[in-house]
Amino acid sequence: MVKLRAVGFGDFGPPGVGRGVGALFPIVCPFCHGKTAAAPEMFVRWRPPAGRSEAAESLLLRAPVPAEAWGIFSAVCAACDQPVFLELKTRGETLADLLPRHRTPARRAVGQLEANEVSECRVVTPKPPPGPNLPPSAPEKFLKTLRPLWEDAEKGRNDEGVSAGCRWLLLDVLKDIGVSAAPRRGVFGGKPEGEKLGPRLRAACEAGLLPRWAQTRAEAIEVDAKTRGGDPKAYVAYVAAVMRAAYPGF
Ligand SMILES: [Zn+2]
Repeated sequence: MVKLRAVGFGDFGPPGVGRGVGALFPIVCPFCHGKTAAAPEMFVRWRPPAGRSEAAESLLLRAPVPAEAWGIFSAVCAACDQPVFLELKTRGETLADLLPRHRTPARRAVGQLEANEVSECRVVTPKPPPGPNLPPSAPEKFLKTLRPLWEDAEKGRNDEGVSAGCRWLLLDVLKDIGVSAAPRRGVFGGKPEGEKLGPRLRAACEAGLLPRWAQTRAEAIEVDAKTRGGDPKAYVAYVAAVMRAAYPGF
């Protein structure tokens, strides 16, 4: 059985402004360059001291908890709504409490992290080309699928193929992280409900498998739309960001 701490911070009332959203931290947005703020929504990975490369759950299992540690959290720029990644330095024990482990939820929600528990905050700047910025922990077959889509998008060719490829890849990623198919409520002359992204993305966000921006950003760039005119580069960047959130660890 999963054993949870009997008395948690939540018993005293979460200070966060909403489900899964923590305190606001000042940032300079790498997308809109605005001096704005972002709140950590979901733990993505931790950065072990001395540059070691370990999965998040190994923080407690194999390594002693460091006095201080950097954790990376997904967030959204308050000004332009683009997904960004916050690197927050906290006490090691604070970070350990925020870590979800295999089949075990985190002891504290990210939304309960308070500003005074963070000694430093910086934004992880997206890596420039070559290649989409992908987590090494993502399944190899997904990396092999995304790379040619990224190349096509960069070269401005095969727009419809890139858009369709991103949608199918996203469906595969969602299935892989355990989002079950949406119930089929009828077919309106198109794809069955179970192949639509919207309901699956909503389910993934509600289950805490993906951060909130995965749903709002998908709607903003119309990932589910079958019409021409979408931005293939935005689709690829979005799928890469979803994969970074879906597959934590270095
Ligand atoms: Zn921005």
